Amino acid sequence: QRYARLAGDRRERYPHSLQFYLEPPTESISLVEFESFAIDRLRLLKVVENLGVSYVRTSDAYKVKLEAELRKLKFPYRALAEDDYEARRKDHISHFILRLAYCQSEDLRRWFLQQEMDLFRYRFNELTESLMQKFLEHVNLSFEAIGEDLKNELANELSTSTPGFSLSKVKEQMFYKVGLADAVDLFRARRVFIKDGFAYVPFKEIDVIVLNNYRTKLSKALALTARSLPSIQSDERLQPLLNHLSHSYVGPDYSVQNNTGKISLEQIDALSVKSFPLCMRQLHRALRDSHHLRHGGRMQYGLFLKGIGLTLEQALEFWKKEFIRGKVEADKFDKGYAYSIRHSYGKEGKRTDYTPYSCMKIIMSNPPSQGDYHGCPFRHSDPELLKQKLQTYKIPPSGIAQVLELVKGMHYQLACQKYFELTHDVDDIGFSLNHPNQYFTESQKLLSGGREPKKEFNNSGNFQQKNYSQESINSSSTPTSSNAKVDTELEGLEAYFTED
Ligand code: SF4
Repeated sequence: QRYARLAGDRRERYPHSLQFYLEPPTESISLVEFESFAIDRLRLLKVVENLGVSYVRTSDAYKVKLEAELRKLKFPYRALAEDDYEARRKDHISHFILRLAYCQSEDLRRWFLQQEMDLFRYRFNELTESLMQKFLEHVNLSFEAIGEDLKNELANELSTSTPGFSLSKVKEQMFYKVGLADAVDLFRARRVFIKDGFAYVPFKEIDVIVLNNYRTKLSKALALTARSLPSIQSDERLQPLLNHLSHSYVGPDYSVQNNTGKISLEQIDALSVKSFPLCMRQLHRALRDSHHLRHGGRMQYGLFLKGIGLTLEQALEFWKKEFIRGKVEADKFDKGYAYSIRHSYGKEGKRTDYTPYSCMKIIMSNPPSQGDYHGCPFRHSDPELLKQKLQTYKIPPSGIAQVLELVKGMHYQLACQKYFELTHDVDDIGFSLNHPNQYFTESQKLLSGGREPKKEFNNSGNFQQKNYSQESINSSSTPTSSNAKVDTELEGLEAYFTED
């Protein structure tokens, strides 16, 4: 009996597989679950982003691949499934967690909004007509279908004002009377018949209205969540986790390498052309040209080199040789710069073994200023300069146009993937790029014949769950025990989403 009641409650909680995510979750959740839900959704949204630029969104290939990913990650993938409470719960909670992580800057908000919209569009269009109706009622968007008499009366106008609708098609389809404010996009694109302040929208265009509505709600919600940032930032359990989610993308951290010492200093020039991503190629060039890099550049490039296998001794030699060719005296190098290199290898100070920066970290934090060469060229370079750089690197004009198009759409990592494809002469990169060191490893694998160029889009990715929980717990006042990690719960998530 208890089970039956529980099942009833559960169904009530999520009556539809699709949601507008209007109510934040109120239950307590363990940090472990929090973390794994967030990572899975991030992985899903990355796939949505990748698919969105590789396939037409209405194509079968797009749908098949997205459904496969939803299944794999255990998100609701078939609207009809009745017993997917766990999937719906995961969908709900993970959306809100990423909202917290991705409300923190304009760039992050825009990216999150775009991917969530695409995901929603796909899922909405997968609904059967009757489920769409039910969902619309559920979210108070039930529009009034016009009666047959009125439709016959307006048939000519509907046919001429609705592209693709012959008279016979008008007769077949339901039309809805929608307030102009809800149909702005259709109205602007001249895709609907307007009369007396109402748009007459055919059923197949209803998704535009629903998406519009969802976009408005979500972007407002993100802005509101951003306003509660101070309270999020003061939570010592959450903050490291959310920062990690939004800034340093969850791939392998490349700090532990099994290739240490396998690269000689003489190889670096050639490798920088063949296998370095553009950000590192740019830093290497700047270093060779000016025999100096400022702090941001030294950190980004130095840790990358460490990640590809330079030992501490090699790193000291590499930087010293270059710096003393510039204005730095050997003595000054040994006293100053050498310390920070040893530091980044965990040999000085707090003895933290620093991790090479991920793309998200490079893209999102510490933008370069005048005289700096760090950052991500796809994100931080002026498009005209980027174009010139790509021209110097002999990228064909059509390839440059594709890269610039991706940059314009703010798909920086995808632009970098395109650069990889163009410089390695493959049709499909075959992995989802998250990290400059991943770029290097994949390039080396490809060039050494370790993997066949793939034609098929593959999203197996390189995700790895990092264990933040212990770190979060340790930094909070929560008493720790060996299984405290699993037991620790986050209570009252809604506190972070409440309107002010
Ligand atoms: Fe470097 Fe990543 Fe930007 Fe590529 S996307 S240039 S690897 S930061």
